[in-house]
Amino acid sequence: MAIERITQPDEQISDNDEQEFELTLRPSDFDNYIGQKHLKDNIQLAIKAAKKRGDPIDHVLLHGPPGLGKTTMAMVIANEMGANIRITSGPAVERAGDLASLLTNLNDGDVLFIDEIHRLNRTVEEVLYSAMEDFKLDIMLGKGPTARSLRLDLPAFTIIGATTRTGALAAPLRDRFGHVHRLEYYQPKEIEQIVTRAASILKSSINKDAAQLLAGRARLTPRIANRLLKRVRDYADVNGDGIIDQISTEKTLAMLQIDELGLDQSDRNVLIAIIDNYNGGPVGVETLAALTSEERSTIEDVIEPYLMQIGLLERTPRGRKVTPRAYKHVGRTHNKLKSDPQSKLL
Ligand code: ADP
Repeated sequence: MAIERITQPDEQISDNDEQEFELTLRPSDFDNYIGQKHLKDNIQLAIKAAKKRGDPIDHVLLHGPPGLGKTTMAMVIANEMGANIRITSGPAVERAGDLASLLTNLNDGDVLFIDEIHRLNRTVEEVLYSAMEDFKLDIMLGKGPTARSLRLDLPAFTIIGATTRTGALAAPLRDRFGHVHRLEYYQPKEIEQIVTRAASILKSSINKDAAQLLAGRARLTPRIANRLLKRVRDYADVNGDGIIDQISTEKTLAMLQIDELGLDQSDRNVLIAIIDNYNGGPVGVETLAALTSEERSTIEDVIEPYLMQIGLLERTPRGRKVTPRAYKHVGRTHNKLKSDPQSKLL
């Protein structure tokens, strides 16, 4: 049985209901896409320029932790360009032929969104290079000495790639994107706006205190904010008059074991494992995964980025280290003598 972790901002735990929910709340234009000002300014300018020239917008690579709005931005771009969007993901495009069929079915100006683009395999990636660069598709017909290559013209399309890790992307692929943008964690005020907007779409009533409280616990991530809202709404519907107030929000958060920094038990376990077993670190990610029974990718893509963002964890060349603030947060005493090898020498 899969354990649902509400603060896990990726889509792995999504069921149909969840996908439908996300679709309802997904903003479709720049006006409703809250925050990410730098990204929006740049993309809006690129869209205006492309429209003026009558060209498609240059390929876009969006990177950053899950749930921050990469897919949503791809849809906004397509919508604002008046273009169709096809959606796929790195692991879904298994063979060069799969990519060829996707690309040859596009029309001029279409957007192809490739989620988890870092998971494309090498052969597919290589076909993508020339397709992205000069809208040509090189395919091999046959095998062995009789094999010959064929070059097909493709429509002028835009690839929008999304990845949680740019580091995992081959340099030649990264270089073929004209726009490369990192999505940042949101400000609590922006998350509050997102929650309030979502509540109004869902025809739920949430008061300001509750929206603020919820925004402070959502790991600065829209997907988590929306998910928490859904839970609080359930609680308020069952236990109250359906109005989401501070009390129903507090009760729901307590039930979900989400603390005042938005951390859940898995985050706290990572901090505690480093403190109790390695005197605060440094410790390698593999060891940490074994100690906490978390997947390495969950630690790297989900848990660590947020712990670093709020100053509880540091990544050093020798591994992960917690900060003094982390000790305080999980109620452990920071014994400098024990944890700092330098001070042992004194
Ligand atoms: P990612 O692709 O980065 O994992 P998504 O684009 O799927 O994230 O976003 C997850 C959900 O969060 C969306 O369904 C949408 O409702 C909400 N969301 C994301 N970004 C924003 C934003 N800037 N403004 C409002 N809602 C947002």
